[in-house]
Amino acid sequence: MDCCACKAAMAEVAVDGVTIDRCNRCGGVWLDAGEAEELATKNKPTRADELKRRKYELLRQWKTGPQNSKPSDRECPRCHAKLSRANYKDVPGLHVDLCTTKSCGLYLDKGELEKIRLIG
Ligand SMILES: [Zn+2]
Ligand SMILES: [Zn+2]
Repeated sequence: MDCCACKAAMAEVAVDGVTIDRCNRCGGVWLDAGEAEELATKNKPTRADELKRRKYELLRQWKTGPQNSKPSDRECPRCHAKLSRANYKDVPGLHVDLCTTKSCGLYLDKGELEKIRLIG
């Protein structure tokens, strides 16, 4: 699968038995819809799982419909439809790319995952 930001090949990375896709060139991360739900069902109250809970929270936010989304220049690596760029929880400067066409998942640029962890 190619990174929707820089077109480099993404590598699969196992996180607690769930495989997510990470770009080694730009550090972006792709989360499939099913993967986020799978991670959420683990529901362990450990520090490591806190990150996964936040990922799921982000996906849930998107499913309820981002209020201020706009077309992105990037394509969904799964269905190749244009992604939508949406502000996350109205936090200035924090935007994520979502597949709203077939609900494939969402893309996070390098550092966005860390911002989301800090925001909670
Ligand atoms: Zn990339
Ligand atoms: Zn898609």
